[in-house]
Amino acid sequence: MALFLIKATDATHADPVKDARGCYKRGDIVDVYEDSRHDGDLIANPIAAPFVLVRVSGVTVAQARAFLDPHRSDPLPCPRCGGTGLDPQLAGTCRRCEGRASIIVIVWCRLHHIDWDALPTAVKNALRDDRYYETTWAALRQYVKNKLTGDGA
Ligand SMILES: [Zn+2]
Repeated sequence: MALFLIKATDATHADPVKDARGCYKRGDIVDVYEDSRHDGDLIANPIAAPFVLVRVSGVTVAQARAFLDPHRSDPLPCPRCGGTGLDPQLAGTCRRCEGRASIIVIVWCRLHHIDWDALPTAVKNALRDDRYYETTWAALRQYVKNKLTGDGA
């Protein structure tokens, strides 16, 4: 059992790189918690916008946390040393790439998301009205998509 904290709206930034790297979009899984983190009492402990909480049975926190990984770039030439691995000012190993000559950057803050538009209407309504839903991994996993490939979880 795991609790998925999911962004319900798009955050945006005027810089497209920062927008992709740093702004959670609707359906992004922001964090995953142990089941005990929320008791399901929405009167005493309402879920605050812009998030929704989904309690999922049949999945462990460790399994679910795999969907928190960002989308990382392929190796890119290090901009500090120009891909040499040597620091141009210090005449030593480049501190940015640690001598590897290439760097990997975060492109999107999450590689996977919940395909919100594809969710059944009843689920979307519950998320809108209650900001909370209980389901099973068997029912949810088909909506957990790799944004790059479209593959399901
Ligand atoms: Zn470098």
